[in-house]
Amino acid sequence: MPHFKPADRLAHLPPYLFAEIDRVKNEVKAKGMDIIDLGVGDPDLPTPDFIIDAMNKAVVKDEHHRYPSYSGLNSFREAVSRWYHDRFNVHLDPKTEVLSLIGSKEGLAHFPLAFVDPGDLVLISTPNYPVYPIATMFAGGETRFLPLTEDKDFLPDLDAVSADTWKKAKILFLNYPNNPTAAMAPRSFYEKLVDKAKEFTTILVHDAAYSEMYFNPDDKPLSILEIPGARDVAIEFHSLSKTYNMTGWRIGMAVGNAELVQALGKIKSNIDSGIFQAIQEAGIAALEQGEPFAGKMRAIYRNRRDIVVDGLQKYGLECRRPGATFYVWARVPRGRDSAGFVADLLQRTGVVVTPGNGFGKPGEGYFRIALTVNEDRLNEALSRIASL
Ligand SMILES: *Cc1c(COP(=O)(O)O)cnc(C)c1O
Repeated sequence: MPHFKPADRLAHLPPYLFAEIDRVKNEVKAKGMDIIDLGVGDPDLPTPDFIIDAMNKAVVKDEHHRYPSYSGLNSFREAVSRWYHDRFNVHLDPKTEVLSLIGSKEGLAHFPLAFVDPGDLVLISTPNYPVYPIATMFAGGETRFLPLTEDKDFLPDLDAVSADTWKKAKILFLNYPNNPTAAMAPRSFYEKLVDKAKEFTTILVHDAAYSEMYFNPDDKPLSILEIPGARDVAIEFHSLSKTYNMTGWRIGMAVGNAELVQALGKIKSNIDSGIFQAIQEAGIAALEQGEPFAGKMRAIYRNRRDIVVDGLQKYGLECRRPGATFYVWARVPRGRDSAGFVADLLQRTGVVVTPGNGFGKPGEGYFRIALTVNEDRLNEALSRIASL
């Protein structure tokens, strides 16, 4: 049999950080132990009927059985533009400032191909969604991580980045509300960020996948595009996955600066051929009629959040009560490290959580709980954590 040497970019992939957890999980399963998986950020509840109905109506239309348009159905991009206007008071030109994506992960992963040449510097706030540094590496870029720490409310310290680094930085990736820390960013932070980016001609890539999973209607997450001047430097990635329980459908969008959006579209038109248009029609239904459903989901996650935060605090595990996302970011007990605590918890109780260091160095000392199981199971998981 011939042996094929994979490209260096595969050899350079970081080791799969959850491999050890998966191994222990299989061991524990084999013993017949009941597993409660609070590891994955994938909604447990189904896509609502009104979206499935829209899909059913769309799937029989002949015109959707051919290649879709590269940049997305006009009607989907117009729906995105209306949604951004209603939700954020941001006006987007659907023709030039909106692009459909096969899920936001796809767009985030392809974006560096449009702007990063080998050796270019990319800044990434960390702990982070793993796609940002991996996509940077695939494009040949160099990565510098900006730590998110609790004493700074999990916001990167923009003044700690030297002018020289800002000058070299082609892109800065950030994500609020944040996965995994569940932190939100205030307007003053975005204002300072946009000023810096304009001063140094740095592209801001803002991942807003969790903007609709907030718990205080008086403190809703912002779109970076609400900030004056942001349209000169920013592209925002958004997803229907988390808000409407549509992770399996693969639909999202990139919006913002027309040059940035168009360049990503150019990369994509050479790689994929768009999104099945019936799914885009379902996406239109989600954006146009989805607000009452999103409100119901927020109430469910808020209740789950309180169960988990109250429970952890009762057992002496420190965590903040997050204002958004379906995650709780908690400290491991004093004297333990993330990997050891998580492995021990799994082996002794069958409860799966994610070790914080898996998202980057500043995540050491933390673990992430995803609120994607029902209240009974969360209570059961908490009493097992207490028994440890
Ligand atoms: C889930 C997630 C995404 C990806 O969502 P898609 O399903 O690809 O749209 C992007 N960013 C963050 C931070 C996520 O947690």
